[in-house]
Amino acid sequence: MLKGKTALVTGSTSGIGLGIAKALAAQGANIVLNGFGDVEGPKAEVAALGVQVTYHGADMSKPDEIAAMIEHAKTTFGGVDILVNNAGIQHVARVENFPIEKWDAIIAINMSSAFHATRLALPGMQANHWGRIINVASVHGLVGSAEKSAYVAAKHGVVGLTKVTALENATTGVTCNAICPGWVLTPLVQKQVDAKAAAQGISNAEATKQLLGEKEPSLQFTTPEELGALAVFFCSPAGDNVRGVAWNMDGGWAAQ
Ligand code: NAD
Repeated sequence: MLKGKTALVTGSTSGIGLGIAKALAAQGANIVLNGFGDVEGPKAEVAALGVQVTYHGADMSKPDEIAAMIEHAKTTFGGVDILVNNAGIQHVARVENFPIEKWDAIIAINMSSAFHATRLALPGMQANHWGRIINVASVHGLVGSAEKSAYVAAKHGVVGLTKVTALENATTGVTCNAICPGWVLTPLVQKQVDAKAAAQGISNAEATKQLLGEKEPSLQFTTPEELGALAVFFCSPAGDNVRGVAWNMDGGWAAQ
């Protein structure tokens, strides 16, 4: 379905981003990977799906590096048809104790990066009369949780950016939507499970059960594969008139 298209997925060396990149690759899209850590493993996983894959190591907190990454996509594949703004980090502390540098980093990586990548990718999509921008927000783009001020602020901001981008392009073939996952067991969440287990002197399994029980009525993690399937739907012809939604896959979290 996506043969001949190029998808750039930020923060795709791990977790949800890699899951979405693989789901889009399985539909035939060539992939631009981005993110830190191991690159060769994720690259091989995507290439095994029979598409072309390239990597750019832009630090998503740096607008000039984001611009270089979009240029890299243009020179390698001719442009960006599908932009998935996914890179993100977390830090947990009460507002009065929240380190200023962590606040700045979360706002830059989780929110402003989506603005920069979007503004740079949009003109090419508009010229082609087709494009998909998918922002990986969070259930925390819809509701709050204690000790996550920067993350919740950034994710609410991403949901707002999604709506405005969708509206500005509503009469075109370019759509913009957000995905709002609940808990997904990736390194980002594993750190929170480990911290809970250490703080309470409980096992990892008990900490996982508590984490899910506090927020997610299904008591199940959402998977990167499920999120990838939603991204594929947004890119399908059936998604042509889905514009500006913030679609939660959260086991009922925000329904409470
Ligand atoms: P993860 O830690 O597995 O992956 C994060 C990715 O972002 C990695 O590839 C990492 O290298 C990259 N990254 C981090 N900082 C970067 C930077 N400055 N520049 C470029 N890349 C950078 O985490 P994940 O859980 O897969 O998170 C992906 C997205 O999903 C994030 O935006 C996160 O907020 C969101 N999300 C996660 C969950 C969850 O439960 N895991 C829930 C809702 C939303």
